[in-house]
Amino acid sequence: MDVYGLIGNPVGHSLSPPMHEAGYDELGIDARYVTFEPEDAAAAIRAAADLDVAGLNVTIPFKQDVLDVVDPDATAERVGAVNTVDFSGDHPTGHNTDVAGVRRSFAHHDFDLEGATAVQVGAGGAGRAIAFALADAGATVHVANRTASNAHDLAADVPGATGHELDAVPELLADADVLANATSVGMEEDESPIAPEPLHDDLVVFDAVYSPLETRLLRDAAAAGARTIDGGWMLLYQGVAAFERWTGRDAPVDAMNAALRDHLA
Ligand code: NAP
Repeated sequence: MDVYGLIGNPVGHSLSPPMHEAGYDELGIDARYVTFEPEDAAAAIRAAADLDVAGLNVTIPFKQDVLDVVDPDATAERVGAVNTVDFSGDHPTGHNTDVAGVRRSFAHHDFDLEGATAVQVGAGGAGRAIAFALADAGATVHVANRTASNAHDLAADVPGATGHELDAVPELLADADVLANATSVGMEEDESPIAPEPLHDDLVVFDAVYSPLETRLLRDAAAAGARTIDGGWMLLYQGVAAFERWTGRDAPVDAMNAALRDHLA
């Protein structure tokens, strides 16, 4: 039996175990996916290598710490965070499948980011992955954030991106094709990071928040006639990309999505 897992803290409510195990069951792979809350992420990676763990996902607060004990690929290095470790080689390699998760979420919804203008609110950990994903796929990215200096810092790292205060969002949205929410607003409370007025029906609105799936931002966007992509898609496709890297097989996306959505409101 192969063992896969997740390290982070907290991981008690993670949806990765049911999502990945639905994939193993669908393909008849003899594997289990377990969660760990180690004290020390670097020690956990070394121990996992010793114990022949086949693959690990990494979440908050360890996504940066792990960079030092794996060989990061170019994407993980540029984003500055690892969420997937592969132990199949001589030395563990680090990857960032959040970036692929965003790209594949838009592809799933038949939206081509090449040449698009994207406004992103939020510049934290998820925001870094989202901004690189949008830019790598050919979009021009305008990042706005409550703490404007964080938007400027992120924009300085992302090719062609610009940084802004949150107040700039309504004007930026007038000519935009995409709005991405990378803040945590909408998760704890029924609030949106932006007012509904500037939303329009030429927008695709992507929300990283997945709990709840139907955020206030997505409700406002739908009411304005915009297309919406909820945070469950990024969560699904980062898992799909990790699954495919580890197993070398096409992931059973529908089965993994069904398991995930069974656990999401
Ligand atoms: P983070 O690193 O803590 O960043 C939080 C971001 O939200 C920062 O830009 C912060 O702005 C902004 N923010 C927080 N409260 C705000 C408020 N009241 N008004 C305006 N902006 C506010 O968190 P994260 O890891 O990036 O996660 C962000 C969200 O993405 C969470 O809901 C998380 O669950 C979700 N997420 C989803 C996926 C997925 O697969 N769907 C993956 C990762 C994360 P400041 O810089 O001003 O503090």
